[in-house]
Formats: sequence, C-alpha cells, structure tokens
Amino acid sequence: MTSPSAWILRVSESPSNYWATYVVDCAMMVFFLYWDIGLRHLPWSWAGALFLSGIAMWTLSEYVFHRWLYHFGLAIARAGHEKHHDNPTAYLALPWFITPLLFLPPQQLIAGWIGLRGFSSVLAGWFFGFIAYSFLHHSLHHYKVRYGWFRHLQSEHRIHHAFPETNYGVTMRFWDRVFRTEFVKTQR
Ligand SMILES: [Zn+2]
Ligand SMILES: [Zn+2]
Repeated sequence: MTSPSAWILRVSESPSNYWATYVVDCAMMVFFLYWDIGLRHLPWSWAGALFLSGIAMWTLSEYVFHRWLYHFGLAIARAGHEKHHDNPTAYLALPWFITPLLFLPPQQLIAGWIGLRGFSSVLAGWFFGFIAYSFLHHSLHHYKVRYGWFRHLQSEHRIHHAFPETNYGVTMRFWDRVFRTEFVKTQR
C-alpha cells in the first residue's frame, strides 16, 4: 500500500495533473467572476477595476511565495521547488484539488456568508495573475519565443536558477528592485 505522501508526490509529478491544474484554476477564476457579476450584480466597471487590483496583488504574492516560501519556507514547499531547480523542465504541480480546497472555503465565507461584494473579483484577478505566471514560467523553460521582453525575462530567470538568491520575480522584475534582490553583474 502506498502512503499518502508517496501518493501526493506521484500525483504532483504527473503531466496530466500538471495540465489539470490549469483547467481547474481557470474554472475557479471564471466562477469567482460569475459570483460577483452574475449572482451579485456587481457593475462590470467595478469588477474590472477590482480584477486589475487582484493582478497587482498577485505580482507581490509571486515574489513573496517564491522568496520566502519556496526558498526559505515549509520543508515540503522547499523540496518541491528544489526539484524544479534541479530539473527545470519537469512537470511539477501541486495535486489539482489543492487550490479549490484552499480557496473555495474562504471565498464562500467572505463573499457568500458575510456577503462582501467585490471580494471574488479581486480573487479572480489574483487567480488570473497566478495562471499567467504559471504559464509564463512554464514557457520560459520550454519554449523559444523571439519577442525581446520574453527573451529578457528568460535570461533573468536563468540567472535565478544559477544564483538562487537573486531575481525572485518571474513575470515582472519590479519587486526585485524594491527588495534589492536584483542580480547585478558586479556582485560577488
Ligand atoms: Zn524556473
Ligand atoms: Zn527559485
């Protein structure tokens, strides 16, 4: 009989689980938007503005998660991320049911039970940032794209793989400048 941790490890390394997380996360993003616009009749303009604020919040979360959770946080998060550093093209992802388990209960509590309108739109924007980050990060390791901005992000992220204490931002470099973790050539 396989232990639960061995099973989770096996699922998190399977390509079908990897792509299933995109489907599940996109479905959750649509559900959160539908919650505010379809069910709670939040005006589109409000939902759009809150969605954008969620994307902005994601960029900071991306930096914080990568620096303090994946590199210095919980042992399980560090172990998973270490695997990515060892094998950057491997299909690694948390089991697909983890994000719904983590995010649906607080959404139902805050947007459903307490009834806070707009919360789900922020969450949808945050999920959009998360999905965009996941796919961009995947592309940086798997694809060759001619666009300058893509190649720039690619080389900055390669530097992170070589010098893991620099360049924590993947989709945008802004927070590395704020927290002074940007790679500079003169550094020893
Ligand atoms: Zn990477
Ligand atoms: Zn890293």
